[in-house]
Amino acid sequence: MARRPIIAGNWKMHNNKAAAKELIEGIVAGVKDLDASKMPEVVVAPTYTALWQVQDVIKNEPKIALAAQNVNPNPKGAYTGEISLEMLADFNTKFVIIGHSERRQMFNESDEFINEKAIAILKAGMIPIICCGETLEQREAGVTDAHLEGQITKALKGISAEDVEKSVIAYEPIWAIGTGKSCDAVEANRTIGEIRKVVAKLYSQDVADKIRILYGGSVKPSTIVEQMAQEEIDGGLIGGASLEAGSFIELIKGAM
Ligand code: 13P
Repeated sequence: MARRPIIAGNWKMHNNKAAAKELIEGIVAGVKDLDASKMPEVVVAPTYTALWQVQDVIKNEPKIALAAQNVNPNPKGAYTGEISLEMLADFNTKFVIIGHSERRQMFNESDEFINEKAIAILKAGMIPIICCGETLEQREAGVTDAHLEGQITKALKGISAEDVEKSVIAYEPIWAIGTGKSCDAVEANRTIGEIRKVVAKLYSQDVADKIRILYGGSVKPSTIVEQMAQEEIDGGLIGGASLEAGSFIELIKGAM
């Protein structure tokens, strides 16, 4: 089953306008000579305040797509500090990351709210990157697969098969994020295979074979080749190693 890999950089709360410009210009320069037909889909997710700047640099570079790190699912109104899909559309945003563990843990985002976002993103013609992942305690207690099944089932509630097959899931074990301790590639592959089985159970094997499922958590140039060699892993959602053009380009090459 040929699923086009994705290498997505989640810049988190890094980079003001000038720093975002420097980073995206470095990435654009680095992808210039790469063969587009062999490249993964490359995605960058700057913070909201740098979306315009990044879009301005990549507008003539079809090898790179823009993502937002979050969105509010409501169309407009009294939601102080929030950003709508209509606002993201101004920047030609293609993907929106939702359900990141940092938002679930620090900003108390519920599965229901994440589901609302997924529905709104798809309705707006964008693609959700739906994050899921277990804590170290859950892994040690042996409840990882059940926990992920719950997160995925709730995130996809009410979404059609047609919309699910174009969506993206990112499996990001919380204990592997920003720790330098990437999940063993074989175990990440097994876990992602379990997530795919959940999609098959909820929809069909055909939908499960089409949806792209990424791995995230301390992905580095030194880990990417082994990760990409795994059958179930369709790419990476990368934090730290996406903040430097050289290492991000290495990650892209590692997925080719
Ligand atoms: P790191 O690659 O820094 O571990 O971050 C992973 C992540 O949370 C991407 O969304």
